[in-house]
Amino acid sequence: MNPPITHLDDLVFDNRFIKELPADPETGNQRRQVFEACYSYVSPTPVVQPERVAYSRDIAHSLDLSESVCASDEFTQVFSGNRLSAGMQTYATCYGGHQFGNWAGQLGDGRAINLGDVINRRGERWALQLKGAGPTPYSRNADGLAVLRSSVREFLCSEAMYHLGVPTTRALSLVLTGESVVRDMFYDGNPEVEPGAVVCRVAPSFTRFGHFQIFTARQDITRLKQLVDYTIRTDFPHLPTPSPAVYLSWFAEVCRRTADMIVHWQRVGFVHGVMNTDNMSILGLTIDYGPYGWLENFDLNWTPNTTDASERRYRYGNQPAIAFWNLGQLANAIYPLLESQNLASLQAALTSYKETFEQGWQAMMANKLGLNAFDTTTDHALCTDLFTLLQSVETDMTIFFRQLARLSLNTAADNDELIHPLTAAYYVPEQLTPAYYTQLCAWLKRYIKRVQADTLSDEERRTRMNAVNPKYVLRNYLAQLAIDKAEQHDFSMVNELLELLRHPYDEQPDKETYASKRPDWARQRAGCSMLSCSS
Ligand code: AMP
Ligand code: MG
Repeated sequence: MNPPITHLDDLVFDNRFIKELPADPETGNQRRQVFEACYSYVSPTPVVQPERVAYSRDIAHSLDLSESVCASDEFTQVFSGNRLSAGMQTYATCYGGHQFGNWAGQLGDGRAINLGDVINRRGERWALQLKGAGPTPYSRNADGLAVLRSSVREFLCSEAMYHLGVPTTRALSLVLTGESVVRDMFYDGNPEVEPGAVVCRVAPSFTRFGHFQIFTARQDITRLKQLVDYTIRTDFPHLPTPSPAVYLSWFAEVCRRTADMIVHWQRVGFVHGVMNTDNMSILGLTIDYGPYGWLENFDLNWTPNTTDASERRYRYGNQPAIAFWNLGQLANAIYPLLESQNLASLQAALTSYKETFEQGWQAMMANKLGLNAFDTTTDHALCTDLFTLLQSVETDMTIFFRQLARLSLNTAADNDELIHPLTAAYYVPEQLTPAYYTQLCAWLKRYIKRVQADTLSDEERRTRMNAVNPKYVLRNYLAQLAIDKAEQHDFSMVNELLELLRHPYDEQPDKETYASKRPDWARQRAGCSMLSCSS
């Protein structure tokens, strides 16, 4: 095996996206509408004093980068946008999207600048993208920059999701720029100066539903077909040569991947917060970590995004339905490439999302509960009744499922003994009234009977449950504590969480405090329970 790369100039780029797709003839960063093109050439804006906060050694490894190159000044200069390494070609892509259900027209990479596609030694394609490296033609009325707090959140969460087994874009690096960025966090007339930062995101492709939608909206079917054909050839290479029949199989696969991603979100209690069609990846990856959040107390109605507080369109319990709606928009976007006899198949592929999701959800719930398989005659009611219980008093979702694996299967146990392992999951002891206690114990006994009907040993049930019910997630308050320190120039907690979250399913006895429920101070604090799109 070749030794890892010690100079970024040795990365191999193929930059197929820009080689094969049409470019905007106009160069430069001035804001504009871009027609008949997939991207515009654009340069990152240099920054005064870049400083590396953290990098992910896992994705660095996927890119064949050595530890020494990741620690070098060259790395910090390149991944802040100050310098390009050999083979990099920088551009921003054009896309549109439905935001909160309404068509928003051209959006595009307003603060993302692509550096090109690396082909690693295993022949894998990894696109690199700087987020927060300055304005592009797609920046509209914004500055193209990102602040430290949202960059810490994106950096840590992408890597945490990966280790949880959730399909996601990755993050290579987090760099402070030394520049100041002004943000009015809650859009309430209180702008503040914040430290600027750049994250280098990494994914096989950053193509979104909105990349296709923009061409259909503009009736530019030539470019639509070019992009669809390119995507199938490049990002879905197992599919045959593009044709109307292949467009249908491709769409069906996008539906399956999206369903799979949403099942994972529901499993770990991740709420994306802004499921606009421009934030939906064609590969079914979690993309664009903005005002996302993790369920602390289980609540189907919860959203972390204050911008969505009244409608709660993107609440936890609505994510599966919104993904379906978004796939419907993608179906509309590719429809012009199909023939009239394909319409029924397109509809069938779209409808199959619901089935795939339901199957995936059932298997996931069976795993969470440690059941051999989901039995539709009993387990729907078992789950619904559990959700009602979890929702009616403040119950920490992560702790509850993790501790459920420790439940004693001794049906002769008295109620106190039975509930004992779960007590750490409750936020408000006064809510555990005698009536609630009785209901909970009744459910637990029903659950024990259900588990006993299976053939799994107790040990095996625990192992299975602990492999899908994480002990450690990026709790909203933990991210905020790491941000508070980073803003004081102490990067230790960012790096500590990065390391902790590499093994979210393992017991890590010296890190037990990071598995504890949200402290009271975090209940109403900005960044912990409330976030906005301002980032
Ligand atoms: P988001 O809500 O983060 O998915 O962003 C929606 C659109 O706004 C995308 O086109 C982004 O590129 C753009 N955008 C968000 N923040 C900024 C910013 N600070 N500067 C330029 N464009 C931005
Ligand atoms: Mg976005």
